[in-house]
Amino acid sequence: MRFGDLSAAYERLEATSKRLEMRAALVELIRPLRPPDLSRVLYLSQGLLRPEYEGVELGVADSLARRAVAMATGVPESTVAQRVKRSGDLGSTAAELLEGVRRLDSREPLTVAGVYGELTAIAEAKGPGSQETKVDILSRLLVKATPVEGKFLVRFVLGTLRVGVREMTILDALAGAFADGAKETRARIEAAFNLSSDLGLVASALVDQGVAGLEGITIEVGRPVRPMLAEREPSLEAVLERMEGSAALEYKYDGLRIQAHVPKHGPVRLFSRRLEEVSAQFPELTAELPGAVRSAPAILEGECVPIDRDTGEILPFQEVSRRRGRKHDLDRLREEVPVCLFTFDVLLEEGRPVYSRPFPERREILARMLSPSERIRLATQEVVHDLPSATRFFETAVAAGAEGVVAKSLKEGSAYRAGARGYWWIKYKREYTAGLVDSIDGVVVGAFHGRGRRAGHYGAYLLAVYNDRADRFESFCKVGTGFDDAQLAEMPKRLARFETESRPESVETELTPDVWMRPGLVLEVRGAELTLSPIHPAARGSIRPEAGLALRFPRFTGRVRDDKGPTEATTTGELLEMYRSQVRRASPEEPSGPA
Ligand code: ATP
Repeated sequence: MRFGDLSAAYERLEATSKRLEMRAALVELIRPLRPPDLSRVLYLSQGLLRPEYEGVELGVADSLARRAVAMATGVPESTVAQRVKRSGDLGSTAAELLEGVRRLDSREPLTVAGVYGELTAIAEAKGPGSQETKVDILSRLLVKATPVEGKFLVRFVLGTLRVGVREMTILDALAGAFADGAKETRARIEAAFNLSSDLGLVASALVDQGVAGLEGITIEVGRPVRPMLAEREPSLEAVLERMEGSAALEYKYDGLRIQAHVPKHGPVRLFSRRLEEVSAQFPELTAELPGAVRSAPAILEGECVPIDRDTGEILPFQEVSRRRGRKHDLDRLREEVPVCLFTFDVLLEEGRPVYSRPFPERREILARMLSPSERIRLATQEVVHDLPSATRFFETAVAAGAEGVVAKSLKEGSAYRAGARGYWWIKYKREYTAGLVDSIDGVVVGAFHGRGRRAGHYGAYLLAVYNDRADRFESFCKVGTGFDDAQLAEMPKRLARFETESRPESVETELTPDVWMRPGLVLEVRGAELTLSPIHPAARGSIRPEAGLALRFPRFTGRVRDDKGPTEATTTGELLEMYRSQVRRASPEEPSGPA
C-alpha cells in the first residue's frame, strides 16, 4: 500500500467523530489489505508500531521533530518554531512548508512498508548518537513525503495523531471487512483480542484462516491477557442474592493489579492492569516469583500492595505509587516500602491454559502451584453461604486493611472472562456501608488556570466518564480540591502531552476550560453524591431528558490512575448504576438532586 493512500484515509477519518462513519471509513481502508501491511496499518492508525503492551516508543521530542522538518524543507529552525506557535501543530506546519518545496516528479512514492520500516529504525535507535540518527531518518522520510504525508508522519512521531481510532472501533471494522459483521462474529473477534492483546495478530489470523482460525489464538507467557473486571452491588445482601446464596469472598486489596508471567527459564515479566510492563518497578517480585511458582510456564494474577517492613501489615496504596521515577529512588523506596503480591487467579499452569475452568478449580490450582513466600502470598478467601458469615468476613477484611471484598462466583460457568466486566466477580467496598458514592475514575479533558495561591498552576480540572457505546467522553464534574502542593506542581507536567488547541472531537461538555486536554490522564475522585445536572452531559437523558449526571463536592483522592487508560475510566453505564443504587438507598421512589 502507498503511504499516500493511508494519509488520504487519515484525512477522511479525521473529518468524522461518529463511530459508524469511522467504522465505514476503516472498513474501506482495510478491506483490500493483507498481512503484513494489514497489521502495520492497524498499529499505525492507533499511533503505535507494535501492540501497546510491547511499549515500543519512538523517543522523538518536539525539538528533534522540528529539526527534522527544518532540515527537510531548508527553512531555519527558528522559523519553523515561529510558525508552530501560530498553527499549534508541527504536523500542519510541516505540510505548509513542504508545499513550498519542489520535489522531483520521478520520486519513488512512499509505501506503508517502507515508512513502517523507517519508523521502526527510529524507535530502535538507542544510545549515544541516537538523537542524530532519529532526526536523520525522519528528515529523509520528509524529503520524500508529499505535504499530507508529511503532516501525518510528523504527528505520528510526536504521538499527536488525531485519527483517534480506538481498539473497539477497529474490532468493529475487522468484523465488517473480513467476516459477516454479525454480533456473534464480532464477539469472537473481540474474545481473541482479549486473550492476545494484539490486533495485528487477530487480524492476520482472521484474514488467513477465517473466523474459525481465531480459535487458535490462545494465551502465552509474555503476552498479557486483558483483565477480567468486577461489577458492584450496594450491599452484601445484594451480592449474595446475585450469587444465588453462595460465593467465595476474598479480601479486596487496594494496590496495583499485576499479571505475572513466569516462564520456565528467563526473566519474569509483570504487566499492569492496562498491560504496561512494570517488571522494573518491582524487582523483589520478579526475583521471588520463580521460586514461589512450582509449575512454570505460568500466568497468575494478583494485587501488589505495600506492606509494613516490620509488622507485615498492609499499608495504604499511596505508598506504592511513590515507587516510580528514577533508579536510585527506586532502590531506596524498595527498602522503605516493600511490596507483596496477593495472588488471586491463575490463567496458565505448566504451559496449559486453565482460564476457562470454573473459578473454584482455578483457585485450587493456584493454591497447589504456589509455595508462598514473604512477598508472594495467596489472597485470603472464605466460601460463604449466608449473610452473617459474609458480614463477618467483610469486617475482618476491612480490619486487616483491605478496602472491602470481591465476591466470586462458584458456578460451573465461572471461567476467567478476559477483558469483560460482569457479575461473576462483584466488589463490595467499605464506603458503600456508609452510603457513600464509590470512587470514580475520571478522565481529564480540560484544565482551568489557578488564581491566588494556585497562580501559575492549574486550579481545577474538568473530568469526564467514558461512554463506551458511543466511544465518547462526557463531563461529570470540575474538581479542584484534594491536591497537595507537590501534586499541584506535578499536574501540568503530566498533562503537557495531552494539551490541545480546541475541544477534542470525542469530548462532550458544556463548560469551556482554559486549556483543553485530549483524553489521557485518569484521576480518582470521590464526592458527596451524584445529582442530576443541566450542565454535565454524562449519561444525559437516561434519567430525565436534558439532564446528565454530576458529582457534588468532588475531591481528588490523591491517586492518579496510571494503571488505567482513558477508555478504562468509569463508564457512563457505571455512573448511572451508582446513581440508581444511591437513589434506591435514599428512597425507593424519588430521584435525588435538582432537575
Ligand atoms: P477499583 O477502582 O474499585 O479497584 P477497578 O476499576 O480498578 O476498580 P474493578 O474490576 O472494578 O477494577 O475491581 C476489581 C479490582 O480489584 C481488580 O482489578 C484488582 O485490581 C482488585 N482486587 C483486589 N483484590 C482482589 C481480589 N481478591 N480479586 C480480584 N480483584 C482484586
